[in-house]
Amino acid sequence: MKTIRIAGDPVLRVVADDVEDIDGKLITTCESMLEAMYDAPGIGLAATQVGIQKNFFVYDEDGEPKVLFNPKLVESSGSWDYEEGCLSIPGIYLNLTRPKKVTVTGIDINGNEIIIEADELLARLFQHELDHLNGILMLDHLEAGAQDEQWNEFNKLKESGKIKIAKKGSTPFD
Ligand code: ZN
Repeated sequence: MKTIRIAGDPVLRVVADDVEDIDGKLITTCESMLEAMYDAPGIGLAATQVGIQKNFFVYDEDGEPKVLFNPKLVESSGSWDYEEGCLSIPGIYLNLTRPKKVTVTGIDINGNEIIIEADELLARLFQHELDHLNGILMLDHLEAGAQDEQWNEFNKLKESGKIKIAKKGSTPFD
């Protein structure tokens, strides 16, 4: 199972490169990421969150595990408030306003180009994961003062020892 990296780890700030080949090794990586995501538990996990600089994420849609390679946001509309959490920033939840509906293109597990129109929770999930693949974390959407407050809160949680932080290259959650 892949280890989910926690905020403060520089891998969360890298911008992912497009996937060129969907081979067996990559599919195995996706399975391992899905395992980590469901174990967390969460509903989405971007490759950069497990230290892989590749442009894809895994997610759950109505109980079904899915993968989207080379996702691109092509359209967004409306506005929706939702309390967001992040597996890389455990313990912090933010009420963020983002577009309500999005259209995302990408490649599915079978190598087919697909277009997905998503609303509300699924749309939010896509926007959150697309951010990760660009090195953006949910706290970046807050104003500077509020960001500091939330990072301080998170650092306190980290210092309290309530959050397990993986050593680089180790797999303590396996
Ligand atoms: Zn996240």
